[in-house]
Amino acid sequence: MTAAYDNANIFAKILRGELPCEKVYDDEHVLAFMDIMPRADGHVLVIPKTPARNILDIDAAHLSQMMPSLQTVARAVKTGMQAEGLTLQQFTESAGGQVVFHLHFHILPRWEGVKLRPHTGDMEKPERLKDHAAKIRAAF
Ligand code: AMP
Repeated sequence: MTAAYDNANIFAKILRGELPCEKVYDDEHVLAFMDIMPRADGHVLVIPKTPARNILDIDAAHLSQMMPSLQTVARAVKTGMQAEGLTLQQFTESAGGQVVFHLHFHILPRWEGVKLRPHTGDMEKPERLKDHAAKIRAAF
């Protein structure tokens, strides 16, 4: 059974405006912002505005509502970062690699021959995050 949604998770705080984020897009259904420990330049997270722990508990209507927005953000990330491709990831529960328990999709810009960086926990410089975010915002 999936554990209950915890309102105190970091992304819930970002949604409530209690913590900052480098926002690239939002609409009725989703918020998209820069991952602070990017595994590729231009690494963006897309989260639903509805409370959902992960892919298992979000109701089908909310999941389908967020998909067109996910595609909109994916297109802007690819164009804005001049990427050759994208990798999308979604981790579910600790065993699946999930660390923050509000559903999120990772959008990772990819270039031929460029490997994803290891998840070291190193924070990106704020000015680099701002630079990448500006490129992505300009591509919507
Ligand atoms: P996971 O739950 O495994 O998909 O990982 C959570 C992701 O959220 C990681 O890629 C973190 O770098 C990222 N992250 C954690 N805290 C923040 C934050 N405050 N703002 C942006 N990204 C974050």
